[in-house]
Amino acid sequence: MGLNSLAAKMMEIAGPENVLTSELDMYTYSYDSSFHSGLVQLMPEVVVKVKNTAVIARIMQFAFANEIPVTPRGAGSGQTGGSVPANKGILLDLSCWDMIEEIDAKNLQVMVRPGVVHSRLNQALDPYNLFFPPDPGSTKMATIGGMVSNNSSGLRAVKYGNTSQYVLGLEVVLPDGEVIVTGGISSRAMKSVSGIDLTRLFVGAEGTCGIITKVRLKVLPKPAARGILTALFDRLEDSGETVLEVFQAGILPSGIEILDSTAIKAANLFKPELNIPVAEAMLLFEIDGNRPSVEHDGMLLQDIIKKRAKNVEWATEKDRMTKLWEARGVIGSASARVKEGATRVFAGEDITIPLEKVPQALKRIKEIAKKYGIIVVIYGHVGDGNMHTAPIIDPADRNEVQKTLELAHEIHRLAIELGGSTTGEHGVGIVRRPYMREEHGNALDLMLKLKKTLDPRGIMNPGKIWPLEGE
Ligand SMILES: Cc1cc2nc3c(=O)[nH]c(=O)nc-3n(C[C@H](O)[C@H](O)[C@H](O)COP(=O)(O)OP(=O)(O)OC[C@H]3O[C@@H](n4cnc5c(N)ncnc54)[C@H](O)[C@@H]3O)c2cc1C
Repeated sequence: MGLNSLAAKMMEIAGPENVLTSELDMYTYSYDSSFHSGLVQLMPEVVVKVKNTAVIARIMQFAFANEIPVTPRGAGSGQTGGSVPANKGILLDLSCWDMIEEIDAKNLQVMVRPGVVHSRLNQALDPYNLFFPPDPGSTKMATIGGMVSNNSSGLRAVKYGNTSQYVLGLEVVLPDGEVIVTGGISSRAMKSVSGIDLTRLFVGAEGTCGIITKVRLKVLPKPAARGILTALFDRLEDSGETVLEVFQAGILPSGIEILDSTAIKAANLFKPELNIPVAEAMLLFEIDGNRPSVEHDGMLLQDIIKKRAKNVEWATEKDRMTKLWEARGVIGSASARVKEGATRVFAGEDITIPLEKVPQALKRIKEIAKKYGIIVVIYGHVGDGNMHTAPIIDPADRNEVQKTLELAHEIHRLAIELGGSTTGEHGVGIVRRPYMREEHGNALDLMLKLKKTLDPRGIMNPGKIWPLEGE
């Protein structure tokens, strides 16, 4: 189909004011936050801003009949190329559909449209003393539609899990335009075991099985109290052992984060007033709950940590907690500081390792970085084995780019070798497609059969998740 007739059809369905076609606009939508989208330019033919299920259903009916690829997009903060169109076609921008339809505080749930940004939802829940626990670093960008599609999580996943655990039901437009509601068409139940759990078919499907147009999310009462503990370690292994001991003592912190020596350096360069002493690793723990239980766990935690760590500090006052957490808070922006004029890129940044193998993984990542001569800042959610490895490079230097791609490949391979996963948060998208077979074996064949049943013409976000021939 010619571009003009495709654009004309979209204008007829969605209204001309919601359709973009200029080259400059297409260029804007060729990026997400991945390293990949900075290297390979993938542009849509037409962008449609949508906030209506019936309009989306008509677009999908048309795309299905004419076999036109459709890529859904939230905020584009994904790091795997998931929301850039690998195969041209229509890009559906859902970020403008940001309505919180209902906060049903009595039934501990909310009904939202896909474009609601994570931090805004939690602000809206605050007066009800409720919160939606998954907590990505991209809280001020990520949309609920993107979070559900990537099954996102973050700092508090060690205690509260990922988005999937909170999705009670979805409204989805299927690739042929049919609209379904999962989790019970008029249900407000907190749980249900009626039938096959179709909700989970779309959570984490990265927009390859349908367009999510409404989300029914479970929310939780906000814990009354918090405490933060920070500690420094001269041996990386000691930090890993300490995390295991904390769990063995029956404590379940709401966050356990690690900064390696390079990350500590980056934080100090970015904010000299932090003045963190030189160490091989820093651990940060968050405990939440009611006040007596936070105090109790805080005491226990200190006893365990003091065995191996130095500079241990525990705080429960708001200002001091904010100060202690700052080292972790700044690291995303700070990491590039360790090399003059360089940039942090997202490549091999998201592996998950079995807990007991975290110290081994940290050592091996450092060896891989040394082999390629690339500085890699390591930090992340060590409590659930989810490591963020941040290569710091000059993206204009072709040699460094090539070396970074090879380094990322080795890090992905390391995760599989150690019995982990290539992605704990950010998803598969384009960049982790080649590891799907190795990670899933013949379970991938069943995934592919399900995908084919839902999307027989392969129009839904093609080029993502599912390995291409030869991969
Ligand atoms: C600085 C930074 C920090 C980050 N920290 C974290 C973190 O701590 N934890 C974490 O998990 N992630 C993190 N991310 C990654 C990213 O923010 C999350 O994956 C986020 O959930 C993506 O949301 P989005 O709205 O930007 O989705 P997009 O990037 O626009 O899309 C992501 C995927 O979802 C699909 N999609 C989007 N909306 C829909 C819909 N309505 N229906 C069907 N499919 C849809 C897209 O096609 C794509 O495949 C971070 C990113 C950045 C830039």
